[in-house]
Amino acid sequence: MARKCVALRRDGGRCNGTATTGSAWCPSHDPERAEDRRQAARKAALAKHAPDELTALKTRLKALMGDLEDGTIDARTGATMVQTSRALLATIQAENEMTTIAAVEKRLERISELERASRKWAN
Ligand SMILES: [Zn+2]
Repeated sequence: MARKCVALRRDGGRCNGTATTGSAWCPSHDPERAEDRRQAARKAALAKHAPDELTALKTRLKALMGDLEDGTIDARTGATMVQTSRALLATIQAENEMTTIAAVEKRLERISELERASRKWAN
């Protein structure tokens, strides 16, 4: 018979998950899978926050490929559109980098505040 996971939930109750073979924990609580879970969460967060602009750009590029293929637009116009798309993509990437840097700076600031506060308490 399958064993129950030994982890406790946040509310203090026992996890209802089934322990994986050779482990005392279910896949959601197995400490050896913690890094996998963190990476999956990070990936999901990134996918969730994928800018609408990128999705729109992808849609337009796919349509452009179709238009080029069926001859609706000529190769020269297509090439210009691809160039413009690259410029747009570079702008989106620069914006994302700035947003990321701002978030990291904010986090570092918060860490510094906490360090200062803990030093004050230590003295
Ligand atoms: Zn569990």
